[in-house]
Amino acid sequence: MTRRIEDITGKLEDIVGQEWVVTKREYMESYLRDETPDALRPSAAEDLILVKPSSTKEVSQILKVANKMHVPVFPVGGRTGLVGGCVPTERGIILSLERMNKIEVDKENLMAIAEAGATLGDLIKAADDADLFFPLHPGDEGAQIGGLISTNAGGVRAVKYGVMRSYVKGVEVVLPTGEILNFGGLLIKNNTGYDLMHLIIGSEGTLCVITKAIIKLYPKSGYSVTLVLPFNNRANAIGTVPKILQSGVIPLAIEYVGIRELNTAAEHLSEEWPVQTGNAQLIIILSGSSEDEVYSACEKISEIAEKNNPYEAMIAETREEQERILRIRSNIYTALKSSMVDILDVTVPMSKLSDLMNSIDEIAKKYGVYMPVYGHAGDGNLHIHVMREDGEVPKYVKEIKDEIYSAGIRLGGVITGEHGIGKLRIEEFKKFLPEKEISLMREIKRIFDPNGILNPGKVFPSG
Ligand SMILES: Cc1cc2nc3c(=O)[nH]c(=O)nc-3n(C[C@H](O)[C@H](O)[C@H](O)COP(=O)(O)OP(=O)(O)OC[C@H]3O[C@@H](n4cnc5c(N)ncnc54)[C@H](O)[C@@H]3O)c2cc1C
Repeated sequence: MTRRIEDITGKLEDIVGQEWVVTKREYMESYLRDETPDALRPSAAEDLILVKPSSTKEVSQILKVANKMHVPVFPVGGRTGLVGGCVPTERGIILSLERMNKIEVDKENLMAIAEAGATLGDLIKAADDADLFFPLHPGDEGAQIGGLISTNAGGVRAVKYGVMRSYVKGVEVVLPTGEILNFGGLLIKNNTGYDLMHLIIGSEGTLCVITKAIIKLYPKSGYSVTLVLPFNNRANAIGTVPKILQSGVIPLAIEYVGIRELNTAAEHLSEEWPVQTGNAQLIIILSGSSEDEVYSACEKISEIAEKNNPYEAMIAETREEQERILRIRSNIYTALKSSMVDILDVTVPMSKLSDLMNSIDEIAKKYGVYMPVYGHAGDGNLHIHVMREDGEVPKYVKEIKDEIYSAGIRLGGVITGEHGIGKLRIEEFKKFLPEKEISLMREIKRIFDPNGILNPGKVFPSG
C-alpha cells in the first residue's frame, strides 16, 4: 500500500474503532464485487481499506478525512448492482453502512424511517410487522436502502405505485466534504426551492452518501392474487398489456416471461413452474381491499385477454403460492448468470414494447445468437440477456449491444431504466446522451464533490 492509504488507517480506526477497519484483502473479498456478470465486471483496485461506521457522525468524519487527503471513497450497499456501480476500482476506502440498519415505522404517517444499511428484506418485514406494506420488489432482498435509493431501483410491483423515487419522501445525506444535510421529511408535499432530494435519488453514489431515508408505506391491501396468463405467442401476450391498463385495472405488477426462462429458473431452484402451456406468459399481481374487488379485476383481465387467444390461466391465492411464483420470476437472472455476458435494461414507451422485441429478434437472427428477453411489461422495461456462446464471450458483443440500444432510442426509449450507468455503461452514456446534458451533470457532480473523491470513475469516466 502507498504511504497515504496507510496514513489514513489510523485516522479511520480513531473514528470507528479498530475492529471496524479492515485492511487484510482476504477479509474484504465480498466487498470487491457486485452481481455484474463475470465477463464484464470491473476489477477491484489493489490498495483498499474497508470501513464500517455505526453512525452518520462517523460517516461525516470519515468523509472529512478522505476529502482532506484526496482519497477516493466507494459507498457500497448490498452489492447486488448489475453495472459495477459499487466496485472499488481505484485505491481508496470502501464504505459499508451495514451496521446502520435500524428501521422505525411511523404508523400514523404511513412511513418508515430506515437507516441506509437496512436491507430490502428488513424493510418488507418491518412494514409487515406494523401491518403495512412496502410494495416494490427489485429482485434481490439483500439490496440495502442506500443502494436502492442510489440506483432508483424498480423491478416487479412498480406498475401501481411507481419505482423507488415515488416512495422516498426524505433523505439524510453526508456530502463528500463531510456536511450532514436533510432533505424532505414525513411529508407528502414539498416545493421548497430546487428538489435536491430527487437529484440524489439515482445518483449512484457519486454525489453524497445516503445515511437515512423516509420511505412511504401503504396499508396492506387485504387481498391479493397472482395470475399466470399463458399465450401461444409473444405478440398476443404483450398486446394484452396496454389493454389491461386502459381498462382501469392497475395491477401491482405485469411481467412478461417466456416459458423457457421460467423453467430454467424453476430448475435452478429445484422447483417446478406451475404453468406448462403457452410459450409466452404474463404474470400479473393484483391487490385490492376485498376478495370481490380482486376477483372482478381478474374477470376483467380474462375478458380482455380472451381476444388474444390465451390458454387457461392459473390463479395463485395463498401467500405461499404467490411467493413461489415471485421467487421463480426473481431468480431468472441468477439461473442464467453463469452463461451470460451482460444484462441490458432498455426501456421504451409501453406501446413500443413489441417493436423493441421484434428488433431484438432481428438482431439475434443477424448474429445467430440466443438472447433471452423478458421483463417488466407494464413499465416498458425489458431485460435482454447477451449470452456466452460455447462458454465464450462472442466477438461481436459490442455491436449487438449498440444495435439494441439504438433500437431502444429510435423507439423513444432510454439505454437503462433500472440498473443505471455504473462502470459498465459509461461509453454508451456518452454516445446516446446529448453532450450538453452530460456537461450539466458533470458540473453538478463538481459542486457536490469538488475533489472528486466519491465513487470516482462511475457514471463519468475518471479524471
Ligand atoms: C437477482 C437480481 C435481481 C435484480 N432485479 C432488479 C430489478 O428488478 N430492478 C432493479 O432496479 N434492480 C434489480 N437488481 C439490481 C440491484 O438489486 C439494484 O440495483 C439495487 O438497488 C442495488 O442495491 P445495493 O444495496 O445492492 O447497491 P450496491 O450494488 O451495493 O450499489 C449500487 C450503487 O449504489 C451506491 N450506494 C450504495 N449504498 C449507498 C449509500 N448508502 N449512499 C450512496 N450511494 C450508495 C453504490 O456506490 C453504487 O453506485 C437486481 C439484482 C439482482 C442480483
